[in-house]
Amino acid sequence: MTWTHTYEQMLDKAYSELPAIKREESRFEMPALKANLSGNKTVVSNLPQVAAAFRRPTEHLLKFILRELATTGDVKGSEYHFMGKFRPEFLQEKIVKYAKEFVLCSVCGKPDTHFVKEQAATFLVCEACGARSSVRTIK
Ligand SMILES: [Zn+2]
Repeated sequence: MTWTHTYEQMLDKAYSELPAIKREESRFEMPALKANLSGNKTVVSNLPQVAAAFRRPTEHLLKFILRELATTGDVKGSEYHFMGKFRPEFLQEKIVKYAKEFVLCSVCGKPDTHFVKEQAATFLVCEACGARSSVRTIK
């Protein structure tokens, strides 16, 4: 998990170095998951990129998707293989659901948020408006 943390810090640094006005103007685009069927499996080729667009660890997004699909999967290189056949639109709905629950601020709707862990609870903290809301732990 260490590398994802470092990666997030790198992203934070990259963001903080952007001129403020540019960041203000940039609109959030929902990343599109790229998925293809392969036999009885669904192969996702850009999960880390989607997680990076959300500024979340890939493991967290992966855990969410596995629970949502109620399936198992494994990683082969940069590809994530999920057992079962899932339509791209169905998978994209899960991405949107993840964004609503774990990325977008529930008050202002901006994606500039991060997790803050306090004891057993995790909070989604918005960097744009300062709002804080609790988020569930994916088991
Ligand atoms: Zn906000």
